[in-house]
Amino acid sequence: MKKLALHWKIMIGMTLGIIFGIIMTQLSWGKEFVQDWVEPFGTIFVKMLKLIAVPLILASLIKGISDLKDISKFKNMGLRTLVIYVFTTIIAISIGLALVNTFKPGEGINQATITKLKETYSSNKKIQSRIKEAGNQKESRPLQFVIDMVPDNAVKAMSNNKLMLQVIFFAIFLGVSLILIDEKDAKPLKKFFDSLNEVVLKMVDLIMLTAPYAVFALLATVIVTADDPSILLALLNYAGVVVLGLFIMIVLYTTFMSLYTKKPPLWFLKQIAPAQLLAFSTSSSAATLPVTMERVEEHIGVDKEVSSFVLPVGATINMDGTSLYQAVAAVFIMQVLWPEGLGFANQMTIVLTALMASIGSAAVPGAGMVMLVIVLDAIGFPPDLLPIGLALIFAVDRPLDMLRTTINVTGDATVATIVAKSLGKLHEPKPKEWDDHYDEVK
Ligand code: ASP
Repeated sequence: MKKLALHWKIMIGMTLGIIFGIIMTQLSWGKEFVQDWVEPFGTIFVKMLKLIAVPLILASLIKGISDLKDISKFKNMGLRTLVIYVFTTIIAISIGLALVNTFKPGEGINQATITKLKETYSSNKKIQSRIKEAGNQKESRPLQFVIDMVPDNAVKAMSNNKLMLQVIFFAIFLGVSLILIDEKDAKPLKKFFDSLNEVVLKMVDLIMLTAPYAVFALLATVIVTADDPSILLALLNYAGVVVLGLFIMIVLYTTFMSLYTKKPPLWFLKQIAPAQLLAFSTSSSAATLPVTMERVEEHIGVDKEVSSFVLPVGATINMDGTSLYQAVAAVFIMQVLWPEGLGFANQMTIVLTALMASIGSAAVPGAGMVMLVIVLDAIGFPPDLLPIGLALIFAVDRPLDMLRTTINVTGDATVATIVAKSLGKLHEPKPKEWDDHYDEVK
């Protein structure tokens, strides 16, 4: 019998998780049951993915760079990647602004809904903590993010998933130095990282065997902890604008990718579907990174030299979905609470700050909302209205987070493919299965 493709298995898991979650919300003990007995399996899966992220970045980036033989190639690729990342993010923000100014979802919100949202959410602990977190980030100096990129302790950098850029910095530094020493001396270390890289990719395959069950747990949890559906309905116009924007981004990515690489658009989507589905289920580009790397290298055929740099950097700094959402959310909140602030200058400030914010956002659930606070602050949004503003969009934030994370990951994969093609580093894919050598060791 032909094996069912992984993305179908994951989709079946997701659908069953949603159905199971809905049934559980109907039972008085359902929510507690899911949180006690189902959620842990989703949490374990996400932890496993995060567990291998640092070794994978380290091994693949050092291997990728040391294979280059010549540093100018790396400079070339680095510059190209950063320019394309900034360019796609600006496009995403502009699409967000164009849509929210055209459809004006804020104008359809009546006073009763505002009062209801305000009462339900403005003292919500999560909203308060996001405002506080944004406050901590705001106080830093303009070049603080560059300072933060440089680790002073390699082991400490590797011990914290939030310090991914520091790990990238260390790996690039080590990789470049490896090219510069005598080949004979470089060989053992290179071999070590080659081997580590292969092993970690095999770990990704093994973890992915449990993905269909894990997404069941993750989605059942999302459903039982979701907000009152009537509140979600009131925000349908706003959510619809974000979703439309994200959809346009997917169309743009696939069209551009297909025109440039001459591969069919659906082929591309099919190859990265498991990464997209995981991004959707976990709301974290960082947790999805190992799978994105595996799909892009083995199933799309992007050379490790390219993917090992473009993808980890992209997971941390390139967030097209998040920046589009920030533009729509900021203008939506202004339309409802502060229409006098809606001038052209403020919208231009949104482009700049949303760009910086998406670079600064951590690749974890809910990070986009923290940075939204900084975007609103930059345009002089009245601070006393801030909790109410966030309360307006909070109810739909989780589903939108799931979608924007999917776009963030798709954007990274698209850019990796385009950069690879432009450097002649896009090959015929050679997928490896989890059980390639299983018979020999069984
Ligand atoms: N959850 C998103 C990510 O990991 C970030 C965000 O928009 O909140 O890419």
